[in-house]
Amino acid sequence: MNNVLIIGGGLAGCTVAQELSAAGLDSCIVEKSAFLGGKVRGYGCKADAKCNNCGLCAVGDLWQSVESNQKIKKLCNAHVIDIFKENGEYKALIQTDNGIIEENFSELVVATGFESPDKTTGSEYDSSAYPRVYTGNALEKLMMNRKENSLFPEAPKSVAFIMCYGSRNVKERASYCSQVCCAYSTRAAKVIKHYYPEAEVVMFYMDLQAVNPGNYARELEEAGIKLERCRPVDISFDGDKPVVAFEDEEGKTKRSFDYLFLNTGIHPDVMNNTAIADITGLRVRSDGFLTYVEQPENTGVYLAGCAVAPMNTYDTIASARNTAAMLINNATEGSVK
Ligand SMILES: Cc1cc2nc3c(=O)[nH]c(=O)nc-3n(C[C@H](O)[C@H](O)[C@H](O)COP(=O)(O)OP(=O)(O)OC[C@H]3O[C@@H](n4cnc5c(N)ncnc54)[C@H](O)[C@@H]3O)c2cc1C
Ligand code: SF4
Ligand code: SF4
Repeated sequence: MNNVLIIGGGLAGCTVAQELSAAGLDSCIVEKSAFLGGKVRGYGCKADAKCNNCGLCAVGDLWQSVESNQKIKKLCNAHVIDIFKENGEYKALIQTDNGIIEENFSELVVATGFESPDKTTGSEYDSSAYPRVYTGNALEKLMMNRKENSLFPEAPKSVAFIMCYGSRNVKERASYCSQVCCAYSTRAAKVIKHYYPEAEVVMFYMDLQAVNPGNYARELEEAGIKLERCRPVDISFDGDKPVVAFEDEEGKTKRSFDYLFLNTGIHPDVMNNTAIADITGLRVRSDGFLTYVEQPENTGVYLAGCAVAPMNTYDTIASARNTAAMLINNATEGSVK
């Protein structure tokens, strides 16, 4: 029997399912939310006058193709309660809208992704209370819902971005780099400049990941974006306008901006990962992401996507294809034996 249980129906889980089906293998996606696609489905295009290669087009028609694929069973609003190994197969108890079902699987893939960034960091600046502050998810919504001639409710004179917000910060239990926020925020900054060429756009940064080949800092400066190398020490408000306190070469300064973007990154959902690790035999690392205890070929339990570490869409697709290739290889070897 080759029927693979995939826990998590985001980009990683859907890519694994699609690859397995192309090789003739059945799978079942168990997705806790009401729809497939995970976080990426709520993101927006970051083209200005031209495509900025933000990675979203790499998804193509994946959602539609998975939704209509008969070899992929989809259980949304569902979660796995427990998993047992019996006679070399996995038996999973799955809570669905129609009660608990029991099903047998040959292998498992854990593709549970990461926590919604606004729930981990940035949640203190909820958009209903702070309409001029945008966390990572809010930035993506802004990009998704933009009109041809307007982006914000009113044309801004000044906009600031705080990079690494909640990442590279031991207090947030995230001393690592989230990998994706330099890219999504600088592309969004270019979009803002395209809509509002007169607006001052300042990016407070500590480090800048290579987003495009060549001198990316110069590319941003040529687009009229100012790079300010420092970590702001405080955010306060003057009425509803955000005020950023930072220290530059001239000493301590405070500046108000029309809009403020907090570059929230990728954080593990530690409670979720702990529960998944308990039933699958995986391990939660000290940074909260999941890892193997034993080689997946020995246990039949595989990982894919941001459940393992922060990654962008290209790397998520590559990670999922790699996992699918291992499963397909096992199935082929099994049928030859
Ligand atoms: C603010 C922000 C902006 C970004 N913008 C870009 C961008 O412009 N370009 C780019 O290339 N990358 C971007 N990324 C990265 C991108 O979000 C990831 O590469 C991608 O979401 C990873 O997909 P995934 O399937 O691993 O995880 P997710 O998208 O998190 O999907 C995981 C899925 O698993 C489900 N799930 C979780 N736990 C369970 C459970 N226990 N049972 C059942 N289902 C479960 C979730 O509901 C979800 O549907 C951005 C990231 C952030 C934080
Ligand atoms: S979604 Fe991203 S990759 Fe696609 S056109 Fe827009 S900027 Fe380019
Ligand atoms: S990707 Fe950029 S903004 Fe995000 S944590 Fe890494 S260095 Fe900071």
